[in-house]
Amino acid sequence: MAKKSVSRKKMVSSDESAAKGRKARARKILAALHELYPEAECALHHASALQLLISTILSAQSTDVNVNKVTPVLFKRYPTANALAGARATDVEKIVKSTGFFRQKTKSIIGTCKAIVENFGGEVPDTMEALTTLPGVARKTANVLLGTWFEKNVGVVVDTHIGRLSHRLDLTWTSKDSKDAVKIEQDLMQVIPQKEWTFVGHALIWHGRRVCSARKPNCEGCTLNKLCPSAFSPDLNGHGDAKKRGRSRN
Ligand code: SF4
Repeated sequence: MAKKSVSRKKMVSSDESAAKGRKARARKILAALHELYPEAECALHHASALQLLISTILSAQSTDVNVNKVTPVLFKRYPTANALAGARATDVEKIVKSTGFFRQKTKSIIGTCKAIVENFGGEVPDTMEALTTLPGVARKTANVLLGTWFEKNVGVVVDTHIGRLSHRLDLTWTSKDSKDAVKIEQDLMQVIPQKEWTFVGHALIWHGRRVCSARKPNCEGCTLNKLCPSAFSPDLNGHGDAKKRGRSRN
């Protein structure tokens, strides 16, 4: 019994020290991101919570540049949730077609606006619970709204860039791959201070677009390369899973 208790104590203390190491490295990465991208913000053009919500729905499987091209036309023709709730699907589809998956996105936009009008008096709600009742709005979209428009750090947005970078930078330890958004978000929330949750989302997206792309990460020109377990790895292939290579630096 005594031996068991000693080894359990050892395990607890090694878990604690791994957690401390992760947090310390995450803080260094965060500081470097602040240096690199002090102005990091959402790239989707918007002037209201409704516009950001619709733009975020349209951004799935598309680029922000593409979305920013269609939203001025969409918002001019349908300036309110009420107007979009009463829109004809075929008219909206024509406007948003170039963003891809336009039928499903149109369905989500009109359905969401109907729910906003019927259940929230025409105003976009500002809680995770209420936002995720809207059709087509899951936790990621709700996090975008809460962090960027309402300035509430309720969670961390995990998109394709953040999923990939979290793995390459070894900021996630419970997720199996870069698409496991739920576990990646939970891990990031443990190592990044809450007041930084919105910033870290924007900054990792910027870094993923500018430096650490899926196919050609520029490790040579990356100021995070001394903190990154995946730096210069020959097997970066869109996941860059440092844990699989057993090179975690904590
Ligand atoms: S060192 Fe390379 S893999 Fe690591 S974050 Fe920078 S570009 Fe990405």
